[in-house]
Amino acid sequence: MANPIYAAIRQELEQKRREAQRAAKQRKSEIYAKIPALSELDREMSLKAAEYSMRIINGEDVDNEMKEALAKLSERKKACLLEHGLTGADFEPHYSCPVCHDTGVADGGYCSCFKARVIEENFNSSNIGKTLDYQSFDSFDLNFYPDEKTDNYPCTPRENMKRNLAVCQTFADKFDFVKKSLLLIGGTGLGKTFLSTCVAKRLLMSGKSVIYISAVDFFKRIEKSRFDASDSDIRMFESCDLLIIDDLGTEAPSVYTTAVFSDILDKRWRCGKKLMISSNNRLTDFERLYGERVFSRLAGGFECLLFYGRDIRVQKFMNGDS
Ligand SMILES: [Zn+2]
Repeated sequence: MANPIYAAIRQELEQKRREAQRAAKQRKSEIYAKIPALSELDREMSLKAAEYSMRIINGEDVDNEMKEALAKLSERKKACLLEHGLTGADFEPHYSCPVCHDTGVADGGYCSCFKARVIEENFNSSNIGKTLDYQSFDSFDLNFYPDEKTDNYPCTPRENMKRNLAVCQTFADKFDFVKKSLLLIGGTGLGKTFLSTCVAKRLLMSGKSVIYISAVDFFKRIEKSRFDASDSDIRMFESCDLLIIDDLGTEAPSVYTTAVFSDILDKRWRCGKKLMISSNNRLTDFERLYGERVFSRLAGGFECLLFYGRDIRVQKFMNGDS
């Protein structure tokens, strides 16, 4: 499926390009109107060039004569421009990107201006605010996770989180090569949303399209699509590079929304498109909540990361950091 963001940016650049060329034409006619001598010089240069072209076609050797005549006119033009405080650049289109002249193409690929616009647009449609600057893998603090074994878990919360962090980083860095989606399971305040945001931001910065949505909003938008013939939300859920659903299990799914959710999982899975789902529920709860089809997709196509330890928000509150 063609990426609508790319098409929209191409169109936007084409408009900018046309506008820059129109403005240059306008500037030129204004300058000519103000300085008739300049207009006359340009006309003279065109006539001379046409005259010499004709004489060359007729077999005359006018090479030196032509060079000399055009150089003289060019000198006169330069002096005239200088006299009026103008340069050749005043006649050229002022493109917003000096590298690609608003074509979006450079060195046989996308120009950096085009890539930057893709990132910006993907951010705009992702629900991820650029304001969450502090949320990055580098700022993830493992010290909030105790380094002593608790309950029946095989490793300490810190060891466990170190692994979760590494899996999420690999997922983001090797996104095109990772096969499985991610399912983040555990209580609140243990870093699931934080890590999902880190993954989202890293992918957005690499030009991927990401939709970040709470399960409540996700199911609401599915329900709304029932009465919306365009189904644009559903298409977006199916086609974005990464779909992140936060807090699955907090919504109240209906037979309809569950069926659409199941279809979205299937379609994404068939196209090799990954998801990142976080939930406070246990994996086994999903069969009861969404039926066997969804459960088997979640159990088979996802790598499950467990989150346990002490609620970080409570710890920050107790430390007076909140
Ligand atoms: Zn450019």
